[in-house]
Amino acid sequence: MTRILFVFVDGIGLGPPHAANPFSTTSLPSFVQLADGHAWTAEAPHVATPSHVFRPIDATLGIDGLPQSGTGQATLLTGVNCAALVGRHFGPFPHSATHEALASDNLFARIQRLDRRSVPAFANAYPPRFFDYARERRRWTVTTRCCLEANVPVRSLDALRDGRALTADLTGAGWTPLGHDVPVITETEAGSRFVTLARDYPLTLFEYFLTDKAGHRRIDQSPTSILQSLDHFFKAILERMDPHNELLLITSDHGNIEDGDRTTHTRHPVPLIAYGQGAHHFADATSLIDVTPRIVRALAGS
Ligand SMILES: [Zn+2]
Repeated sequence: MTRILFVFVDGIGLGPPHAANPFSTTSLPSFVQLADGHAWTAEAPHVATPSHVFRPIDATLGIDGLPQSGTGQATLLTGVNCAALVGRHFGPFPHSATHEALASDNLFARIQRLDRRSVPAFANAYPPRFFDYARERRRWTVTTRCCLEANVPVRSLDALRDGRALTADLTGAGWTPLGHDVPVITETEAGSRFVTLARDYPLTLFEYFLTDKAGHRRIDQSPTSILQSLDHFFKAILERMDPHNELLLITSDHGNIEDGDRTTHTRHPVPLIAYGQGAHHFADATSLIDVTPRIVRALAGS
């Protein structure tokens, strides 16, 4: 059975090559490798071989306005058009009209329905204050809500200290100012850890959102430095993974970072990359709606 390493990257679209598009101006060798030698822009040729797919997929979902994370991620992780359920793009948290879909159709639950012993994993660790805030406000992100609905553990400080989780910033440097004594690691070590962790599960999801924050200019790091950090992470995954038994899947919920002239989301298509065993299942995906059903199909081996 294929094991899937799913890296969800918030806020990256395929925009025109441009002086203000960091994908055009930054050296990103592992991103380029994942697009068969091309920069991640609207001009990158589609790739569709049995073991490698690179293609744009629609994130607008037939709805006007700028795509948002709440509806985009909920669509990506359920296969249900959640923007259509709400009647507009909504985010960053999931809209109440999508809670039912997130409960019954979420990716983690669907994988467990294939085989009750087949429990997927969510690799991100969250600091204690995240849990306090989420419980107090009863407001969970799309990914953590999927975990709660499917009894997939949300990892915390202990898992991180045991090397069984990743921080959202890859290195853990962001946890020191929060007062947590967490060893700071390199992006290469983070990639290695992700591959090791993923060997224990049919699917392991990691969520990276500094790309969206950099696109909004809400963090100190530039879009360029964020993409370079992610490039080192991808390099380590590509070096450590076994493409004959494992599938690396990368996609996003909406564009943002690729347009350096604006600090808002974009309506650009987002990249879908499938690399390794079972990649061909993703060759005909055309929108966020198509990702979860194809993951389920790849894991079912059909
Ligand atoms: Zn955003």
